[in-house]
Amino acid sequence: MNAPVLEVSALKKHFPVRKGLLRRSAGTVFAVDGVTFKVAPGETLSLVGESGCGKSTLARTAMRLIEPTSGTIRLEGHDVTRLSRREMQPFRRELQMIFQDPFSSLNPRMKAGDIVGEPLKVHGLSGGNEKHARVAELFAQVGLRPAQMQSFPHEFSGGQRQRISIARALALSPKLIIADEPVSALDVSIQAQVINLLMDLQQQRGLSYLFVAHDLAVVEHISHRVAVMYLGKIVEQAEKRKVFGNPLHPYTQALLSAVPLPNPRVKRQKRILQGDVPSPMNPPPGCPFHTRCPHAFEPCKSVVPAFRAVAPGHEAACHLYGVVQAPPQT
Ligand code: SF4
Repeated sequence: MNAPVLEVSALKKHFPVRKGLLRRSAGTVFAVDGVTFKVAPGETLSLVGESGCGKSTLARTAMRLIEPTSGTIRLEGHDVTRLSRREMQPFRRELQMIFQDPFSSLNPRMKAGDIVGEPLKVHGLSGGNEKHARVAELFAQVGLRPAQMQSFPHEFSGGQRQRISIARALALSPKLIIADEPVSALDVSIQAQVINLLMDLQQQRGLSYLFVAHDLAVVEHISHRVAVMYLGKIVEQAEKRKVFGNPLHPYTQALLSAVPLPNPRVKRQKRILQGDVPSPMNPPPGCPFHTRCPHAFEPCKSVVPAFRAVAPGHEAACHLYGVVQAPPQT
């Protein structure tokens, strides 16, 4: 792998829960609990998992929108984990985000052209005619007409609004875009257009994406590598073809068994997961998946499986591939 654009090591985000008038501590939500991954230049790494698994919190923590509890975040080799808002400013140009709901992430009182041009203004990169030309160019790149720069967000369709969000994210020519469920609020036909736009832009600009999604068909289409999350931890990570062709972790196997196949005559054996996702306030001891895993055996209840390479280029956290005592949690 080339030197990573984003490198996250042992990242944790724990939220204290307080209750009552005196705001007494009532526990901790272990939303992200020791996650490590890298995103290479020009690569798309997708984070997948059921809702509540911590993938959006992880994306926002990596973006430094939420303060991490511990761990490190490196952007092109620079440790940005503890930088102040001001110190973070130059790095913001390299790191942009696209949100799930384009309507609520766009200021309804601003014209689309001003929304897209705002990052250029904030970073003092261009103004006047130069800024206007740059914004018009960004509109054209995302498939909008420059004449639409004068319109307000409510005058656009959902797909067009997401295109405005993408143009705004591109304004500073970032190296990495973190996309948090960028198409899940859109109609299926529009989803394909936006996904193809993101892929075209990646080819043209060498962009990297950290792509958060729960729709595995979309993930299979857009990703180079896939990381599967369960209860705040990555449980499997590999190239897309390995995860989809030969999933090793029982949780990934269950997730993939629910994806419909394109040929209606070919049926996949569904593996229905038993029970609910445990509370991230009270994760089970040992393997966090043992309460729902059809293959659970004795060590799973007490020994945390180490996340390690279990096949070439294929990492998983599961005792089925050899019980290894995990290093002590810090
Ligand atoms: Fe299932 Fe045990 Fe593997 Fe966890 S470690 S996924 S419980 S077999």
